[in-house]
Formats: sequence, C-alpha cells, structure tokens
Amino acid sequence: MHLPLLLTLLTLLTLTLAATTTTDLYKILQLDKSANDRDLKRAYRTLSKKYHPDKSSGDETKFLEVAEAYETLSDPTTRKIYDQYGHDGLANHKRTGGAQQHNPFDLFSQFFGGGRGQQGVRRGHDMEVKLSIPLRDFYTGREVPFSLEKQQICDTCEGSGSADGHVETCSRCNGRGMIIQKHMLAPGMFQQVQSHCDVCGGQGKTIKKPCKTCGGAKVVRGRIDLVADVEPGMPRGHRIVFENEADEHPDYVAGNLNVVVDELAAKIDTSESDEARRSRNDGAFFRRKGPDLYWKEVLSLREAWMGGWTRNLTHLDGHVVPLSRGRGEVVQPGQVESVAGEGIPSWQEGHVHEHDEHHESHGKLHVEYVVVLPDQMESGMEKEFWSLWEKWRKKNGVDLLKDSGRPAAVVQDVKDEL
Ligand SMILES: [Zn+2]
Ligand SMILES: [Zn+2]
Repeated sequence: MHLPLLLTLLTLLTLTLAATTTTDLYKILQLDKSANDRDLKRAYRTLSKKYHPDKSSGDETKFLEVAEAYETLSDPTTRKIYDQYGHDGLANHKRTGGAQQHNPFDLFSQFFGGGRGQQGVRRGHDMEVKLSIPLRDFYTGREVPFSLEKQQICDTCEGSGSADGHVETCSRCNGRGMIIQKHMLAPGMFQQVQSHCDVCGGQGKTIKKPCKTCGGAKVVRGRIDLVADVEPGMPRGHRIVFENEADEHPDYVAGNLNVVVDELAAKIDTSESDEARRSRNDGAFFRRKGPDLYWKEVLSLREAWMGGWTRNLTHLDGHVVPLSRGRGEVVQPGQVESVAGEGIPSWQEGHVHEHDEHHESHGKLHVEYVVVLPDQMESGMEKEFWSLWEKWRKKNGVDLLKDSGRPAAVVQDVKDEL
C-alpha cells in the first residue's frame, strides 16, 4: 500500500474515532440486539460490499462505520461492554488499551480475499437473474426486494472446511496438489507420470475433522435477500450490476450478479368490474414505448360529437391527469392527443432527474380516443333521432367526398350526409 494512501486512511480512521459515532452500532448493521454471530457476518458482508469505496455505490465514511460496528459487536468482550455501557463504555475501554483497532480494509480482505486493487486473483463466474416488475415501478422507481439461491462461504467454518479450524498441508504431496508416480516399464526403465494427488484431491491441504455444516466443502448453498434499486424511467431489460454478489468461494473473488429488470405482463382479473379495473393504477392499461406512454380512452358518441365532458385519468403514481373538451369540441374516432410531460421520466445511467422541469424530464402521454356507438336505443328515442336527421341532413351536409380525399370515381352521391 502506498504511504500517502495509508496516511489518508489513518487520518480518516482517526476522524471517525474522534467523531465517535453516536449512531447505534446495531442500527449501522441494520440489526437488533438479538443478532447472532451469523447475522453480524451476513450484515457485514452485505454492507461492507455496498459501501466499499471502490464500488460505484461506495461511501467511505459508512464503510468505516460498518467495519467499526462489526469489529466491536463480533468480539464478545467489546459487545458486552457496548451493550451495558454504550459508546462511553467503549471509549473508556479503548483508552485503557483494551481494544485493538484494525485496518478496515484488512477486515474486508479477510472476508472477501483479494484486497484493494489486488490483481491476479481468480474470479468466479458472473450470474444473471431476471426480475419482473410492473410498469408502475418503472415510472415511480422502487426498491424491489428479492431473494436468490447461491453458493456462499460456510459460516460455521468460515470457509476453512474444517470443524476445528485446523488445516494441514497434505503429507502425500507436500502441499503441491500434484504427485509424480514412477512406473517401471522394464527393468531399469521408468516412466514418470504426474497426476492430481488422490489424498487431498489436488488441494494441497487436508482436513482431519471436516466441518459438519458444509462437510468440508467450504461452501454451502443458501438463499440471500437483496434489494434492487429500480430508478424512475429505467429502461426495460436494464441490467443492474451487484458487484461480487455471484457464487462465493474462499479460493476466488466472487463474480458479479446481474439483475435484468423486465416488465411484468399486466394481470387482468376478469372477475373485476370494468370500473374497478380502470381505476386501478398498476399500469395494466398503460403501454410503454421508450420514453412515451400510451393510453386508450373511451368516449360515447354523444361525448365525441357534442363535447362537454371531463375525465380524470389516474396515472401510474396515482396523480390525476385531467382530460376534457368544452361543448361543441368534436373528437374524431382514433384521434390521438399527446400530453407533454406525462410520459416516463427520462433516465440516464447513474443520474436521476429530480428537480428538472417536468416537461423536459418526461416523455409524452399519447391518449387515443375510441368512440363507441350505441347499438341499442329506445324506440321513442330512435324515432326522434330519425326525424331530426331527416330534418337536417339536406341543409347541413358534410362533403364526404372532399373530406375523404379519395378520387371522385370511388365516392359518389354522398355529398349531403350529416
Ligand atoms: Zn463449513
Ligand atoms: Zn495431497
């Protein structure tokens, strides 16, 4: 490690100690007082990785806090002092030379191997999982909890594979993992064959008492809980990278876990009434295309033709987009109204718009109007409409020929229809 870096670290360390965090150590690790050793390790692994200064999500202050909290609580003596006398008790204990502060980066290396910027360390394979979330979550952004099964370093033996912590150098191969066997082909003629040591299986090390949890394998399979931070406007199919969260093994640095966020197909419950369905805002009736949203709004013949209607469209986050036409404002079937600023929030990797003007930071909402004609009328109403049409059709006709834009040969004698 370079001297200036070391000095910086020491300064940071001193600063952290001087400021002596009054935040509860259990809270720093997101645990409560009932946490056992296993919980502590799990919390340390998750949080130290998240805050490691080399990571994009890194936060050096938090990283040091997590290391300090873990060191204090994982030692039964200091944990007892902290539980009884709190931060003051710890400070006293430190003053009297009772506790040794370790380099937080060394602690990190103990857990994950490698170390800061170390090269030539073997790296495990990357993993990929798919996370399907509703369109609403892409719009509002959400921290989506999920769990997955992966290979983890055995907590019981801390990755040694041994029940008593003793790992011995294999006596057959002397730790090389390979043995050379001599075969006599003929008297005085030997052939040397190199092969994996059959005693240690090529590991170079043997364990007398294998760990009961992992059976000496050093790793176990288990579920872990993670949280994917879906940011507002993230594109479908985006890959959220969890650095070093793939399968773990003490012999290599874990690869990355890639979480692909996919849009969940809208579930339509046919037992629900139309009204209930339309008032839900889980996005079942919104469609997304890039930064834009699409919506179909149904109008009656009267509304489309006569105007004088309002609709309160419930958006994905529950806010209301009012749509309306004054009396006499006609909406043609299939007409599309584009509302600026009501599409998907714009999103860029590592950059979330928060205080920008709504219009610039969102795509558009395209509302397509569908006009539904009544297929049944009371006979009285039908008669009245009929005579009304008869009365007005000659006087106030629409020139369909002109409006259709088609050549005269195709449309004939339809000049006087209302
Ligand atoms: Zn084990
Ligand atoms: Zn061996």
